[in-house]
Amino acid sequence: ANVQELLLSRIRDVHDHPKPGVMFKDITPLLADPAAFTALTDALAGLCTEHGATKVVGLEARGFILAAPVAVRAGLGFIPVRKAGKLPGATLSQAYELEYGTAEVEIHAGDLGSGDRIMVIDDVLATGGTAEASLGLIRRAGAEVAGVAILMELGFLGGRARLERALDGAPLEAL
Ligand code: 5GP
Repeated sequence: ANVQELLLSRIRDVHDHPKPGVMFKDITPLLADPAAFTALTDALAGLCTEHGATKVVGLEARGFILAAPVAVRAGLGFIPVRKAGKLPGATLSQAYELEYGTAEVEIHAGDLGSGDRIMVIDDVLATGGTAEASLGLIRRAGAEVAGVAILMELGFLGGRARLERALDGAPLEAL
């Protein structure tokens, strides 16, 4: 409970970002506070261990900031899921629906495979589209999903329900 209060106290609400009507959850105050950033890293690393992860996937861009120290703390490899066109090697791609239009994410196919159990890490779960696409990439690469671990879930956007099928019984842990 103490950790949750600390983390929550370091997340800032920004009105009308990135566009009018949106309330953005800004995690930069949390990142700037070493006690909070360490507590978050430790909590996410604990979830990786608890769920038997062998590697950590971070979702561009804020997921990278969280997943990299988690990977080091948990003694696991780090794999980036990037927006289309950024990764130099052979990739798997997955398109997904946004509120307006579509987006596409990619992973290096050679970085994971059968025998891997992947924990997906991001800061905020909103509609769940990005996480859902990432789970598709992981399964297409032949790896198992250990779970999805995030700092904050925006429950009113229905991301948990959207992810249910892709999770296929794996846990969605929101700190
Ligand atoms: P989704 O695909 O779940 O709709 O969107 C999730 C992605 O958008 C995440 O990668 C997350 O970083 C970003 N995102 C959406 N809303 C917010 C927010 O209010 N705060 C932060 N920090 N990220 C957000």
